[in-house]
Amino acid sequence: MNWVILATDKVSSKGLQPLREDERFDVRSVDDSASAEFSSALSEAHGLIVRSATEVGLALLDNAPKLQLIGRAGVGVDNIDIPAASSRGIAVFNAPGGNTIAAAELTMALILSVVRRVTAADRSVRAGAWDRASFQGVELRGRTLGLIGAGRIGREVARMCEAFGMEVVAHDPYVSDADAEDLGVRLVALNDLIRTADVISLHVPLSDETRHLVDADVLDRMKKKAFLINASRGGVIVEDDLAVALAEGVISGAALDVYEDEPLPATSPLRSAPNLVLTPHLGASTKEAQVTVAREVAIEVRRALVEGDVSSALNADDLV
Ligand code: NAD
Repeated sequence: MNWVILATDKVSSKGLQPLREDERFDVRSVDDSASAEFSSALSEAHGLIVRSATEVGLALLDNAPKLQLIGRAGVGVDNIDIPAASSRGIAVFNAPGGNTIAAAELTMALILSVVRRVTAADRSVRAGAWDRASFQGVELRGRTLGLIGAGRIGREVARMCEAFGMEVVAHDPYVSDADAEDLGVRLVALNDLIRTADVISLHVPLSDETRHLVDADVLDRMKKKAFLINASRGGVIVEDDLAVALAEGVISGAALDVYEDEPLPATSPLRSAPNLVLTPHLGASTKEAQVTVAREVAIEVRRALVEGDVSSALNADDLV
């Protein structure tokens, strides 16, 4: 046995197979990162694999004297203090592609739910009504999808929406015209996208550039009949402004999977806003994605420890 790997946050055990079946690794799963069992395993661990629940900050790193790498089974690394890890020579890996399909398919579910009023109609039937008149929807065919962010997930959503007969335009300052042409997507200025899209779907990372990108001013410039979808990161939308826009009919509807504060506070105005579909950050929650992200990161961890190859680490340039 050469290396101890500590997996937490219910990382898929099936996905960790590449490490489990390799006798050089001793994989220990402790799902509660606040437990004494976790602290004890951490003190011996060479590798730590987490999802989003465990905060990997200074306090944790101080108790991990042998740690050489951290793997995040998923994309977002908001819960990992990367500069602190870098300063200790700890490589940080994520699994960027493993949940792309899951997130894109949830986006489609959100789009279809809001344009066809599926969740509202469901609530009405359950309450004893048979009200067909209140739930007339609109068709996607022939309408324009405006993607803000045309990375991995945005591109999948583009492909799926094209299959629904939608025209796709995108705003992404980091995608070249040639790339966009390959994708069959027309790149447009943000302002034009906001004015012309029937469905706007956000697929950007949360950054200084994207924080509160969608505020009252943007919502005012959207078509009155348009819908807004966010399965990227909370914080990209000013939630209070969205709640007001929905209540006043500034846009037709919205669907959100992610929120500025998660869990969504009980007092959030979103909870009572009309024409709004809410899901509790389910984008990556498919059986398939959980196995794939764990497998992707397990392979990175194995390569890093066995071959000493940390070139694909997020902080590769900052490791000494
Ligand atoms: P990605 O890095 O492949 O794509 C992000 C794209 O956003 C890139 O093409 C980038 O150029 C673009 N971008 C950055 N700043 C921009 C700006 N100011 N305006 C327009 N475009 C900008 O990432 P991805 O894998 O497609 O993930 C997209 C988002 O979805 C991320 O925030 C990720 O954390 C989130 N996500 C959420 C869930 C969920 O559970 N809901 C699951 C997976 C991913």
